[in-house]
Amino acid sequence: MPEGGKPMTYVVTENCIRCKHTDCVAVCPVDCFYVGEAMLVIDPDACIDCGVCEPECPAEAIKPDTEPGLEGWKALNAKYAALWPNIAARSEPPEDAAAWDGRADKLLDAFGTADPVAA
Ligand code: SF4
Ligand code: SF4
Repeated sequence: MPEGGKPMTYVVTENCIRCKHTDCVAVCPVDCFYVGEAMLVIDPDACIDCGVCEPECPAEAIKPDTEPGLEGWKALNAKYAALWPNIAARSEPPEDAAAWDGRADKLLDAFGTADPVAA
């Protein structure tokens, strides 16, 4: 746990949208990933902060919530972890995943808003 006793989690961020490689799912020891049509999220209450998923993500979409500016993404992860089904096994990414890697405005395209808190 970071200094100050603040609970920590990892969060999935914008570049997961339409990439969905699921390499992260294969390594998570506590199966805390949930899957929607466009992206995956992490249940912040279940994540044990082990960090093994972060380097496995080819889209570099997984970040520790200790990085600045991720409050909205943490809220998005918590919201959809409660709504979407759990995913515990790797699956094939969409055929156009590489074409979407690094594109701007993926949240706006997939969720109709550029604000993760409003998504
Ligand atoms: S590996 Fe990265 S891009 Fe793929 S599903 Fe996991 S978080 Fe999303
Ligand atoms: S940090 Fe560990 S527990 Fe949390 S989502 Fe990644 S692999 Fe799972």
